[in-house]
Amino acid sequence: MTCWSLQTAVITDFTQLSLRSCNDKDVGHTHSTFVSSTGLERTTVSAGFLCLSCHLPLFSPSNRPSDPAGMAELEGLEFGKSDFVLLDEVTMEQFMENLKLRFEKGRIYTFIGEVVVSVNPYKHLDIYGKEVIEDYRGRELYENPPHLYAVADAAYKAMKRRAKDTCIVISGESGAGKTEASKYIMQYIAAITNPSQRAEVESVKNVLLKSNCVLEAFGNAKTNRNDNSSRFGKYMDINFNFNGDPTGGHINNYLLEKSRVVQQHEGERNFHSFYQVLRGGSDDLLKSLCLQRDPAEYAYTSQGAAVTLASNNDSLCHKAVMAALKVIGFTAEEISSIYKILSTILHLHISELTSTEPENTRKALLYRTVATGGGEVIEKGHNEQEASYGRDAFAKALYERLFGWIVGRINSVIEVKDYNPALHGKNTVIGVLDIYGFEIFDNNSFEQFCINYCNEKLQQLFIELILRQEQDEYQREGITWQHIEYFNNQIIVDLVEQPHKGIISILDEACLTAGKVTDTVCLDSMNKKLGQHPHYTSRKLCPADKTMEFNRDFRIRHYAGDVTSDPVLKEMWPDGKMSITEEPYYVRCIKPNEVKSPLLFDDGRCQHQVAYLGLLENVRVRRAGFAYRQPYARFLQRYKMTCEYTWPNHLMSSDQEAVEAIVNQHGFEDDVAYGHTKLFVRTPRTLFTLEQERAAL
Ligand code: ATP
Ligand code: MG
Repeated sequence: MTCWSLQTAVITDFTQLSLRSCNDKDVGHTHSTFVSSTGLERTTVSAGFLCLSCHLPLFSPSNRPSDPAGMAELEGLEFGKSDFVLLDEVTMEQFMENLKLRFEKGRIYTFIGEVVVSVNPYKHLDIYGKEVIEDYRGRELYENPPHLYAVADAAYKAMKRRAKDTCIVISGESGAGKTEASKYIMQYIAAITNPSQRAEVESVKNVLLKSNCVLEAFGNAKTNRNDNSSRFGKYMDINFNFNGDPTGGHINNYLLEKSRVVQQHEGERNFHSFYQVLRGGSDDLLKSLCLQRDPAEYAYTSQGAAVTLASNNDSLCHKAVMAALKVIGFTAEEISSIYKILSTILHLHISELTSTEPENTRKALLYRTVATGGGEVIEKGHNEQEASYGRDAFAKALYERLFGWIVGRINSVIEVKDYNPALHGKNTVIGVLDIYGFEIFDNNSFEQFCINYCNEKLQQLFIELILRQEQDEYQREGITWQHIEYFNNQIIVDLVEQPHKGIISILDEACLTAGKVTDTVCLDSMNKKLGQHPHYTSRKLCPADKTMEFNRDFRIRHYAGDVTSDPVLKEMWPDGKMSITEEPYYVRCIKPNEVKSPLLFDDGRCQHQVAYLGLLENVRVRRAGFAYRQPYARFLQRYKMTCEYTWPNHLMSSDQEAVEAIVNQHGFEDDVAYGHTKLFVRTPRTLFTLEQERAAL
């Protein structure tokens, strides 16, 4: 009997590769322990290793599986553990040691079960080519080294096999690599679908891929943390037909940081789109828009004094965006309107461009209309501050609407049309969520408040699905289980969203009575209602705390760190709800350092991220837990043909007993636990073997 510890499970995964690669069908047993010519036993195998039972060489040079990208990770400890579950001990030290070693060796991806942990390499790695895609296509998660492609394939297979919607949630702080990851995932899905190259499917894929370029131009900007920072959240749905080919999609955008249009911090830029048109637009275009080439000429593109951006060639990007807009189907007229609006914002002395009468525009910006007590309507001049506030508000609104319109226009091209479920079967969806991560600045506004709240909710979802529900289920099913402690951020979520006394509720009330409630009154109300909350404090409650600069500052202790905000009340809560389907797949991105270096692994910064992402707890739950579970009836239905006592029917008194017969026949006893209603399977390998047996019959 093989002892199915977690480590042997991984060994046998690789064994499977060796058996397949050397066509070694008549060995008659499963290789389970390996020894090198130097007598060293290994948990993973490489060329030159022998099976301890039959002494057959594994991966002799001639039969080693192809490894075009040179990334096969069958090399063992030299590159660290490819799954954190395999750590000798689950401690922060070991976790960090493994993460660092792998980063230094260019192994930026590591599994925690089905979760992929990714560290931004800050350099090009040759691991995304066509051959690598082929390596992952249709394979099980554990057959290959950890990669985004493995999780993309798992999500795709789950969607296809079970005809169920699924999604991939990518999280991490600014610059951790979320957007790059989302693009690789989409590229992978595009590459493995539509083998018959049907024109309409190709066109959908093309639009989906090209939309990234447009969204980044209008929604991304250089910040001090990331030269290409997404200043909006994106949830992209890809729809599939019954064949598993993309038929369309939908992009939801959240929380565009519109304040950037009129204000940029030192070292930062406005949205890329402005610089791209200025630097890349033709002479004729610029002339027709009355624009100068130099972004330093305009207040809105020069505040951060970071006009040039080394890693981003604005002029080249402009051409790529123009090409993408055309592929997507924007008409010449629409493209022209987009650039008119951009230049309108830059000028804001605008009449010709927006086709309004100059006098009307002047009036709109310099005067407001007021109703007097006697029912009379008069025009009252703005003072300078009011006028510039109005101008900025107008610029922000224009840009926000432009962005919303572009997203809507892309959606109109890719939305699934004429889909008839009766004819075409069920239409399923894979969603990819790339939302910007925690933001902690010196001066945090309502936008950071929303972003950080959103991240608290995402962490809550992760806790719910990965940590809490998992443990609850073991308890419910009567599986012996040692509870694993974790920090539940529900308390912070409540601080923000609880009815009547949460921060949103208090802000809401203040907005309803706008004009009557000042910041101070609002803050007093928060202090009164939330003063005792362990994750809330304010300057007024803690006058000695000099890190809060102004009397009106308050602070939320987020799970990722402290954030001090000014209450900016007049912004709107964005509409549109994020609905995440089912059990998501996770990519947890880590930023290795603050200086965008491919060489530096900043231990402190990385450890902080590992801690607040709850990765150690994730490993503990995963390690002690079971990768798969299935109700007895379903398991029996699927695998009864692999066992002589259950095929075609069993004579046992219950489905559970019949399942036990299957498990015993295959020798998996040590890898499973029997719950009240379900069978729990510890390692993916077991189900994989059963699947193979089933397929071979
Ligand atoms: P934000 O929240 O600010 O949008 P992000 O998590 O989306 O940040 P990205 O824009 O994906 O971060 O990554 C930042 C930069 O890091 C990229 O522009 C690229 O230079 C580099 N980078 C990220 N992932 C990779 C990768 N897999 N390979 C090479 N470089 C990468
Ligand atoms: Mg991003």
